[in-house]
Amino acid sequence: MSVALGLDVGGTKILAIAVSGDGTVINEIRVKSSNSRKRLLDSLEGATAMLVESLGSRAEELVGIGVGVPGLLDSHGVLEEAPNLPAVSGTPMTGELSRRLGHVFERRERFRLVVDNDGMCSAAGENAFGAAQGLSDAIVITLGTGVGGGVIAGGQLLRGGRGFAGEIGHMVVNVDGPLCPCGRHGCWEQYVSGGGHARLAREAALAGKATRIVEIAGGNAEAIRSEHIFEAARAGDLEAWGIVDVISRYLALGLANLVEVLDPLALILGGGIIRDGDLFMPLTKKYFEQTRRGKGERAVSVRSAELGDRSGAIGAAALALGLVV
Ligand SMILES: [Zn+2]
Repeated sequence: MSVALGLDVGGTKILAIAVSGDGTVINEIRVKSSNSRKRLLDSLEGATAMLVESLGSRAEELVGIGVGVPGLLDSHGVLEEAPNLPAVSGTPMTGELSRRLGHVFERRERFRLVVDNDGMCSAAGENAFGAAQGLSDAIVITLGTGVGGGVIAGGQLLRGGRGFAGEIGHMVVNVDGPLCPCGRHGCWEQYVSGGGHARLAREAALAGKATRIVEIAGGNAEAIRSEHIFEAARAGDLEAWGIVDVISRYLALGLANLVEVLDPLALILGGGIIRDGDLFMPLTKKYFEQTRRGKGERAVSVRSAELGDRSGAIGAAALALGLVV
């Protein structure tokens, strides 16, 4: 059976996985990521070598390597913008990796090297082996420090005219909202990502509220993280619940907007934030049903992602296997 490697580059670590064509994870390793072009490429090369070595005789079955990167890639495979790895921006990823990994695929009849955006990889992973398996149309939304994800439309990843489609975190949901690092105001990410949650709580703290959340954050409003809000909400703090309500309203609004434009069969939510989904998903589903039009005849399933923090790496491998395009 065909085997592919999937490497998911994060801000602090790289997860590298060997996956067979039926989605079985054969082996996985984690190595350090780096905000240095040379060290990052060295790490990717080293992780690939280790995984190939670990495959033993199954290395013969290797048909491709997929690499997911945290940023936008142009049509030539150059990493244009990587907010979490700024010094790596501008790296011709596909060119460099073809040169460095060429020895893995020389003398092979067919071999695919794919470099793609990490959100696209997560969507591909869920589509090939996870919660979007078998669905022609679905949207995968990854709620972490920011918002990532990808759109599956007509059985394929939706890429747009220049390959930059699917930047759902920067859909504006409030023209008078806070400034986003992208330069605009009121992006969805500013409300529903971990960073957005923390901002909402910090603003409440500046207004003299959210005292329980500040306490949980060690007395420092600047140190508030998403999980502090949820911890306070679990303890019954009403101000924390007020913030959870705002988060849920904005999450529902963005989901309803996506449904209006893309008509998906399922909305699949993943990422670290979803750990506390038992707190905000019931409210989100309630607001979602209130917000969107054409309810009964256009049922949309809202569900959790199934591949956890491996979705990007497994999806990169699925792209290299040619299971998702
Ligand atoms: Zn933005």
